[in-house]
Amino acid sequence: MTDADLPPLLPMPDGWQRALAVVAHPDDLEYGCSAAIASWTRDGREVVYVLATRGEAGIDTLAPERARRLREAEQRAAAAVVGVRDVDFLDHRDGVIEYGPALRRDITAAVRRHRPELVVTLNHHRTWGPGTWNTPDHVAVGQAALDAAGDAGNRWIFPELADQGLEPWDGARWVAVAGSPSPTHAVPADRGFEYAVQSLLRHRTYVEALTGEDPETYVRRFLTGSTGTHSARFGGRPAVAFELFTR
Ligand SMILES: [Zn+2]
Repeated sequence: MTDADLPPLLPMPDGWQRALAVVAHPDDLEYGCSAAIASWTRDGREVVYVLATRGEAGIDTLAPERARRLREAEQRAAAAVVGVRDVDFLDHRDGVIEYGPALRRDITAAVRRHRPELVVTLNHHRTWGPGTWNTPDHVAVGQAALDAAGDAGNRWIFPELADQGLEPWDGARWVAVAGSPSPTHAVPADRGFEYAVQSLLRHRTYVEALTGEDPETYVRRFLTGSTGTHSARFGGRPAVAFELFTR
């Protein structure tokens, strides 16, 4: 079966004003998703980023202590390019994030603090598709974000959060998973594409460590490829595809 044999990707719901994007590492949102985020913020919606780590284990040639500060700064700059001012870090340890109550509680706290109608996260499945294994950090954070959208509405799951003034928020109606091997919905990527390019380029240190190629050539080629992957199911348009869960 080819992509074109699958049903068309549906437009994302638009009855929302605030989104919370929860991912494991600096750069997770810039590898495609930020084209959608740029178009949302240009429409006047608010998007906040929450990162489980500071990406300190992401660059082989850079010790974690230096990488942590540098990648935090690059992530803040990348967020600013797509109209996101608020970037929180949960300070779990890069590479060994554990799925469990501690991670769910930290994400639940973020959901209660920011009160989004839409939660965005990255692929929680074990693979990106046939033959491409996903990393445990992405799986852990994706699963915990899906869970936390519900946990946030239950006063009794993490009662200590209400004691800290974080009252339950049961308004997260959707969780949209980017990079899923089984997407159902999509956002046109054309309007946000240039912002996505500039946003990924802000991860200069990471991109330069990753490729010997000119960074801009690499970034444009990567994002053209990723936003073209599902275009056959979206009227031929470049797209950021999501697997959408409705609560
Ligand atoms: Zn990552």
